[in-house]
Amino acid sequence: MALYGGIEGGGTKFMCAVGTGPDDVRAMAGFETGAPEATLSQAIAFFQQKQREYGPLDAIGVGMFGPVDVRPQSPSYGHVLRTPKAGWSGADVLGPLRKALGVPLVLDTDVNAAALAEWRWGAARGCDPALYLTVGTGIGGGAIVDGRPLHGLLHPEMGHVAVRPHRDEPEWFRGVCPFHGDCLEGMASGPAIERRWGAAPDSLPADHPAWDIEAYYLAQALTAYAYVLAPERMVLGGGVMHGPGLVDNVREQVRAMLGGYIASEMVGERIGEYIVAPGLGDRAGVLGALALGATG
Ligand code: ZN
Repeated sequence: MALYGGIEGGGTKFMCAVGTGPDDVRAMAGFETGAPEATLSQAIAFFQQKQREYGPLDAIGVGMFGPVDVRPQSPSYGHVLRTPKAGWSGADVLGPLRKALGVPLVLDTDVNAAALAEWRWGAARGCDPALYLTVGTGIGGGAIVDGRPLHGLLHPEMGHVAVRPHRDEPEWFRGVCPFHGDCLEGMASGPAIERRWGAAPDSLPADHPAWDIEAYYLAQALTAYAYVLAPERMVLGGGVMHGPGLVDNVREQVRAMLGGYIASEMVGERIGEYIVAPGLGDRAGVLGALALGATG
């Protein structure tokens, strides 16, 4: 029976796993995302150890924080592109893994990987297109279209769409995205909330105005995704989504913003089934990496 490895290369944490799916994870380990070389060395050591225990892996899926070059024909394939993450601009991710492990590698973004896992095993089973958005340190989205992660020029960058400012947005706050300032990520990521309110998202009570503003920005983006991609389901993950009442608030605002224009009960009465929490919880990313491996 085939056995796969998975790496969820996140901006704050790397998760590595060996297995075949959610019910068969044989080993898992996580560590902080430090400098590229040291971080990849830890991943390599993990897989070398696990291959001694479980035998050779058939492939390793790598779900990497973006932007990352996912075009196999490109000279910079497998490299992280220009990123605000210190030390990682231009970092070669696949090269060191290939050299040290000699196992076939399948690369995608961390959010495309999570979308794949949610589509295959989680909250978006049977939904195509399926969309996955994570709202945390950054905001990123992936999509499964015709059973495969969506690529094009590069990969989708759903976190950087433009949003209209909330009427209560403080005048001085112009967003935290180093590239665009007040794009979705600039206005609604964890660091944006923290900068605006001077407090971490998980310390803000349910009745804090932060949540309504947060839902307003996310709902604008989801409304745009609904129009552009016509997904059958949207899965919202990431730490910020644990905010009290946030998912419900987003649902209500999306429904209001769509204004009945999309003629489907999924964005009306059944919006609770349309915008959902991940079925795989915080494991979506690393399981997605395993799922990527299985496509190799
Ligand atoms: Zn941006």
